Amino acid sequence: MAPTHVLRCCQRGLAWIPVIFIALVVCWSYYAYVVELCIFTIPSIAEKIIYMVFFHLSFVMFVWSYWKTIFTRPANPSKEFCLPKAEKEQYVKEERPESQQEILWRATANLPLYTRTGAGAIRYCDRCQVIKPDRCHHCSACDMCVLKMDHHCPWVNNCVGFSNYKFFILFLCYSLVYCLFIAATVLQYFIKFWTLCRRKSAENCPKNELPDTHAKFHVLFLFFVAAMFCISILSLFSYHLWLVGKNRSTIEAFRAPVFRTGSDKNGFSLGFGKNIAQVFGDERKFWLLPIFTRLSFSYLLSPLSRCVVIRCVVIRCVVIRCVVIRCVVIRCVVIRCVVIRCVVIRCVVIRCVVIRCGVILCGVILCVVIRCVVIRCV
Ligand SMILES: [Zn+2]
Ligand SMILES: [Zn+2]
Repeated sequence: MAPTHVLRCCQRGLAWIPVIFIALVVCWSYYAYVVELCIFTIPSIAEKIIYMVFFHLSFVMFVWSYWKTIFTRPANPSKEFCLPKAEKEQYVKEERPESQQEILWRATANLPLYTRTGAGAIRYCDRCQVIKPDRCHHCSACDMCVLKMDHHCPWVNNCVGFSNYKFFILFLCYSLVYCLFIAATVLQYFIKFWTLCRRKSAENCPKNELPDTHAKFHVLFLFFVAAMFCISILSLFSYHLWLVGKNRSTIEAFRAPVFRTGSDKNGFSLGFGKNIAQVFGDERKFWLLPIFTRLSFSYLLSPLSRCVVIRCVVIRCVVIRCVVIRCVVIRCVVIRCVVIRCVVIRCVVIRCVVIRCGVILCGVILCVVIRCVVIRCV
C-alpha cells in the first residue's frame, strides 16, 4: 500500500473523532437525564412522565437531523459542467492562461454561469477538472467541488452545502432545543444538590433536599455541559439564520461573489420570504422536518436559471392547458357520439313505429278487402 494512501486513510479515520466525541456526549446525556435524573432523582411520577416525553421528542428530532447532516452526500456539479474530452485535452496542453480561458469561454456559451473569479475569468477547478457552477467551491477536506458550499464542518465530518444545508440548520435548532430543555429542567435539581443533606438515603432526608447519591455528579455536569453547548450553539444558529435571510453562504459572507458586472454581496438575494424558501422549500408543513424540500434550481439562482424555472412553470401550464383542452375535446366527442346514438336510436324507433303502423294498416286494408270480397260473394 502506498504511503500517501495510508496517510489518507489515517486522515479519514481521524476526521471521525469529533463526531464520535459528540455521539459519546449525547449518549451520556441520555443516560444522565433519563436514568440518573428522571428515574433516580425526581420523586414525582407526573413530573417524570412529562420530562421523559418532551426529552424524547427533542432527542429524536436532534439525532435525526444530526444523522441526515452527517450522511447526506454533498452535491457535485452535473456532467454539463465537465469539458468534452477533446477540449479537456486541449485545455491541459495549453500553457498560456489566455488560451485556456478561450477554451472555457467557448465551452460555457450555453451554461447558466454568472459568477467569475476576482480577475473576471471563468471559474474552473483544476483538481476536479470541472467548470464551477455559481456558488460552487472546491473543498480540500472532501477533495471535491460542492454545490452552494457553505463550509466544511468537522463536527459532522461533512461538507455543508446545497444537499444538506436545511438539515444543518435543523441540527443547530434541535440541538439548541435539546440543550435548553435539559438546562431548564435540570436547574432546580442542580440548585438542590448544592444544598443537599449529607444523608445517603432519601428516607431520612428533609423535604426539598436531595440525598448525597451518585446521581449528584451526573446532574451537576449535565447542567454545565447543556449550558455551555447552549451558548455556543445559540451564536452559531443566530448567525446561520441571518445568512438564510440574506441568501448568503458562509463563504459568500466573508468574500462577496463576483458577477459579470462586479462583486455584489446581495447578488443572490430574492427577498426574505423567497430566501427562506430557497433553503426550506415552499411547503411550510415540511420546514421543521429533516427531509429534502428545497427548490431544485435554487443552488444556481442566477437570472438565467430563474428563467429556466419560469420556463418550466410555463411549459407545465401549457401541458396542463393542453390536457384540459384534450379532455374538453374528448368530452365533446363523447357527447356528440351520445347525441348521434340517440338520434340513430330515435330514427330506428320511428322507423319501427312506421313499419309497425304500415303492417297494421296493411292488415286492416287486407281485412276490409277480404270482408268486401266475402260480402260480394255472398
Ligand atoms: Zn474541485
Ligand atoms: Zn468538505
